[in-house]
Amino acid sequence: MKVISSEIVMSAVSPKQYPEDGRPEIALAGRSNVGKSSTINTILNRRKLARVSSSPGKTRTINFYLINEEFYLVDLPGYGYAKVSKNEKATWGKMMETYLSSRKNLYEVVLLVDIRHEPTNDDKMMYDWIKHYGYGSIVVATKSDKISKGAYQKHFKVIREKLGMSPEDKIIPISSLKREGIDKLWGNLEDLFMA
Ligand code: GDP
Repeated sequence: MKVISSEIVMSAVSPKQYPEDGRPEIALAGRSNVGKSSTINTILNRRKLARVSSSPGKTRTINFYLINEEFYLVDLPGYGYAKVSKNEKATWGKMMETYLSSRKNLYEVVLLVDIRHEPTNDDKMMYDWIKHYGYGSIVVATKSDKISKGAYQKHFKVIREKLGMSPEDKIIPISSLKREGIDKLWGNLEDLFMA
């Protein structure tokens, strides 16, 4: 995929603000700090389109990035901060539920997990939720520069087992630092549009 243009068209706090032009969407989900903003900037070849290291307590939004005027990359709000209030969690849950259940043009929801660690219980819940809605065929393992390539398979196995992934589901290692895995991720996302 050659990214010719990318722009944020909406930072939505309510479903009324979601784009209604019917363009295909691919959403990215993951716990806070997993490297989602970095991944978005890397695959779009932009330095600061998505904000890196967002702080807890900040307003949660669903961010819609229009790519090549063809489709949206959708940045779902992160989860997993220990200090988030019950109220905020409920708001987050409602937002995700509405989004996941109502988007007719949603092609895929990609879960991002840290390649180094066993996915958290929150990751597992998120993945179950994604699967429940019929998505989750691609998991991105972030910060792949933090382990040696020889250790990938061992880490993939841990991720697969914890999340309960099917054999046909894919794990794609990505390093924003080293700019690795970008073409592979785009290749897999393009396949979704063609399927
Ligand atoms: P987000 O909260 O999921 O959007 O995560 P960020 O993109 O803000 O990244 C969280 C932290 O992880 C930051 O300190 C990043 O610099 C770091 N990080 C993100 N991607 C990578 C990566 O590919 N390699 C390494 N080594 N660090 C990364």
